Amino acid sequence: MNYHIGTALILQEFNPSCECPMCKIEKIVEENILFQFLNDAVMEDDTRARVNKLGFCADHFDMLFARQNKLSVALQAITRTNTLKKELFAKDAKSAKKTADALRKLTSTCIVCDIVNDHMERYAKTVAQLYAKESAFRTQLLSTKGFCMKHYASLLEHADCAGLKTKAYLADLCGLQDKHVERMVGELQWFCDKHDYRNREKPLGSSADALPRIRVKLYGEKKS
Ligand SMILES: [Zn+2]
Ligand SMILES: [Zn+2]
Repeated sequence: MNYHIGTALILQEFNPSCECPMCKIEKIVEENILFQFLNDAVMEDDTRARVNKLGFCADHFDMLFARQNKLSVALQAITRTNTLKKELFAKDAKSAKKTADALRKLTSTCIVCDIVNDHMERYAKTVAQLYAKESAFRTQLLSTKGFCMKHYASLLEHADCAGLKTKAYLADLCGLQDKHVERMVGELQWFCDKHDYRNREKPLGSSADALPRIRVKLYGEKKS
């Protein structure tokens, strides 16, 4: 299963239209992966084996089920359920605890999450490399409204991919995130202050949708 990691999606999505451009990229990547799971890729032995081993998380099962090709979802569900069926039995209290542990571990993995995370790690590295190589990209990065906490952490983790420019990149990245987290606190504060009768005539402005946007800032975009 191949998905080309280029700079095109970064250049396309890094703009001031949302609270996390990496979430926008993740949605596109995720949609491509789901499409592959519902089509040819699912027939490859290697992918089949990984589905059996890792399964899907509830979010990704729902997303697969919501799309076309229910037959493909059902076939994958059969093989996965047969894998779990082998882990159901316990003879005594001690082995029951062991089985419970093993079952919890077995059901906490997801092949789609794994592949998406792998791609997003490479995107975080590419952002740092772009910053180091393309001087014009700095302006584009600073035009965004920062990132959700999950993707911000990932960008921090891979900041060293900016090489000699790592310190400058981190200064810009941290400054950007701090500025926009502060903006969000201000917007939320005004949302609260508007409940005071003395402010009732004043406009709500950008605070009107501050709650759904802080949802993105704190937890990332909702899965759908
Ligand atoms: Zn995000
Ligand atoms: Zn998942």
